[in-house]
Amino acid sequence: MSLRGTTFLESVLQTLKRAIELGGYPEEVYEILSRPQRIITVNIPVRMDNGKIQVFTGYRVQHNNALGPYKGGIRFHPEVTLEEDIALATVMTFKNSLNGLPYGGGKGAIAVDPKKLSKKELEELSRGYARALAPFIGPEVDIPAPDVGTDPQIMAWMVDEYSKISGHNVPGVFTAKPVILWGNPVREYSTGFGVAVWAREAAKKLWGGIEGKTVAIQGFGNVGYWGAYWLEKMGAKVVAVTDSKGGVYNPNGLKLADVKAVKDKTGTVMNYDASGTRKITNDEVLELPVDILVPAALENVIHRGNANNIKAKLIVEGANGPTTADAEKTLHSKGVWILPDLAANAGGVVMSYLEWVENLQWYFWDEEETRNRLERILLDTFNRVMNRWSKLGTSQVTIREAAYVEAVDRIYNAMKVRGWI
Ligand code: GLU
Repeated sequence: MSLRGTTFLESVLQTLKRAIELGGYPEEVYEILSRPQRIITVNIPVRMDNGKIQVFTGYRVQHNNALGPYKGGIRFHPEVTLEEDIALATVMTFKNSLNGLPYGGGKGAIAVDPKKLSKKELEELSRGYARALAPFIGPEVDIPAPDVGTDPQIMAWMVDEYSKISGHNVPGVFTAKPVILWGNPVREYSTGFGVAVWAREAAKKLWGGIEGKTVAIQGFGNVGYWGAYWLEKMGAKVVAVTDSKGGVYNPNGLKLADVKAVKDKTGTVMNYDASGTRKITNDEVLELPVDILVPAALENVIHRGNANNIKAKLIVEGANGPTTADAEKTLHSKGVWILPDLAANAGGVVMSYLEWVENLQWYFWDEEETRNRLERILLDTFNRVMNRWSKLGTSQVTIREAAYVEAVDRIYNAMKVRGWI
């Protein structure tokens, strides 16, 4: 328990326990799913530009593979811990199951601030990580992808390193690669697209549609930016965005393309200056008078200290684990809908799955066909979660708990027929 209440891992395990009770699954399911199958720690030496060796510690947590190869991103962030990586890997197991993918869950991490490395140092570190993990990953074993602090260029270095070790090109070992290296153009925006699709579908149920609804977004990286882009395209009004330094708010709506241009040029949306727009902090953005709030940065930002100040009726978790378990209780009792990470941000991994299928066949769909396939899978998950939620009782059970029951069901049945339980 931290000052902010439950830790991310504690929140995940609490929800798992509750889902097992709600679904009537045996206690053994908790015994197995409450810890990862394998944790790999690697120490990667990198020759820095100053000529000295620096050793970076990295992890790969392989949580559960009852449904297929482990799948999940790699995070580069100075504050990552093994406990956080375990929580993230655990969520991946449920996210992949919930969305009907033939995957188990995994997650990797390196404690590093990638912004402080030169391009050459970053490449060395990425290749070193792929080399160290090569015996434990592969298209049939464990398929990493980007997460916070990593991107398609890093995937390209890693797939190149893994391919050199294998002696031939292996496109399906990492996903979210550059398009030229067997990626798919939809992957760049797929997580944000999924956030917007989930918001749109929930808004239809809550208000009859998303048109004109106001949105505040915390985080303006890949998920936050593309989430804003697609939400706006679907008719919502984005009034506030922040990045790690802070952000901007205009109750009449922001000109997204201009905000993005300022971010690209100066490194932060804070430098965006237009009439009617004021600066806000990362705490303020969560408490604005908006209809929809999208936390799309890091975990535990909505906690018991600020849950009561949140005014949005719909929270869409672009980030993994932004809401603590105790904050969720408070918000649920006030009738706030929280679309949980394993559902709302699954566009990324669902699209990774489609890219992986393309890679295994060396056959590629065009952008529109890929996006339609992605949307179909997301809508199917949305309908299953909503059905499960109404069956379990919307006032007694949160959307997250309903999604966990739906996810655990597939994993439980797979473990049962395999003879694990
Ligand atoms: N890092 C993303 C997630 O948390 C994507 C994972 C993937 O594409 O494998 O879902």
